[in-house]
Amino acid sequence: MALLECSNLHKRFDEPAVAEISLSLDQGRILCLLGPSGCGKTTLLRLIAGLERPDNGRVVFGGKDVTSQPAHRRQFGMMFQDFALFPHKNVSQNVAFGLQMLNLDPGQVKQRTLEILNLVGLADLGQRNVSALSGGEKQRVALARSLAPRPRLLMLDEPMGSLDRALREKLLLDIRSILKQLDMTAIFVTHDQSEAFGVADEIAVMNKGRIVQQAAPEDLYRYPLNIFVAGFLGFKNLLKGSINADGDVETALGVFHPPSRQPAAGTSITLLLRPEGARLQPDGSSEQKTGIIRGRVVSRTFVGQSFRVKIIVADTETVTFDLPNHTPPPLVGHNIVLYLNPKMITVI
Ligand code: ADP
Ligand code: MG
Repeated sequence: MALLECSNLHKRFDEPAVAEISLSLDQGRILCLLGPSGCGKTTLLRLIAGLERPDNGRVVFGGKDVTSQPAHRRQFGMMFQDFALFPHKNVSQNVAFGLQMLNLDPGQVKQRTLEILNLVGLADLGQRNVSALSGGEKQRVALARSLAPRPRLLMLDEPMGSLDRALREKLLLDIRSILKQLDMTAIFVTHDQSEAFGVADEIAVMNKGRIVQQAAPEDLYRYPLNIFVAGFLGFKNLLKGSINADGDVETALGVFHPPSRQPAAGTSITLLLRPEGARLQPDGSSEQKTGIIRGRVVSRTFVGQSFRVKIIVADTETVTFDLPNHTPPPLVGHNIVLYLNPKMITVI
């Protein structure tokens, strides 16, 4: 049995905020709740934490039904976007606070505080007032404080909200490695898919109070279940198509032969062309009948690891691909031929 089992959780305010959510999470795993603002992520966390009572459904933790147990008895930890640190206390005092609440003796409090500050890389800053810390350091204090009492489950609600990009990437790696060192079971909430990919063992994509798809990051990226998930992951090349008698997919842009599941002939489907799946045919010609796109370049942007090239096909449909930055990029206004790796095409 999983460590955490939620079944059929339902919570309504004016409208349903969480609807029929079931999920399970094994000891030591990191689950990410990913979805747009207002989709019910925080409400789901609060239901699991016991800060909100469900109208329906159950929360079972460690084999015990905790649905009506008050929050403080669940021994779960929470970390929020605004850190919620005590501004007039120093780093050690902030971390020690939760331990003192547990009535540990002063020696144990001191030892555990040192241990956890070491783990988050703040051993030298124990005496510093938290108001004199950078955003990233504050975030580490908040993490240390929530981990110090050894919670049975840690919940992090958009913890990276106010940090800049470079800092986020570093902290995300650190958070994941710290949680793994402690074999901590965690639920991490974010609306940012790159954050979710960086931290999660599995991702539950939410929309309008429901979990739309739950999968490992790689599987989610490879096989988004529907247009909402694909769109939320940032995919833009979504084409309407239909299956022909040969099992190929006919679209306004050309004929494609995806390797994934093949619905019956005549079926209407959506095709996802991954942006990294295209290669320029330098001589502008191709013998291939499938997997070829001919179009005119309408824009070209250097995005570091690649050139992002937007092309228009038959003067109607636009698609965007990331071409490797080590080959000369096509010029705006030129007609080009692209070959699409069939492995980078998915039927959804
Ligand atoms: P998210 O964290 O994904 O942004 P929330 O769980 O905060 O979403 O909110 C989900 C929906 O529930 C929203 O429409 C929000 O307005 C509503 N909601 C959340 N908390 C309350 C509340 N205490 N009272 C009334 N409506 C609420
Ligand atoms: Mg929220």
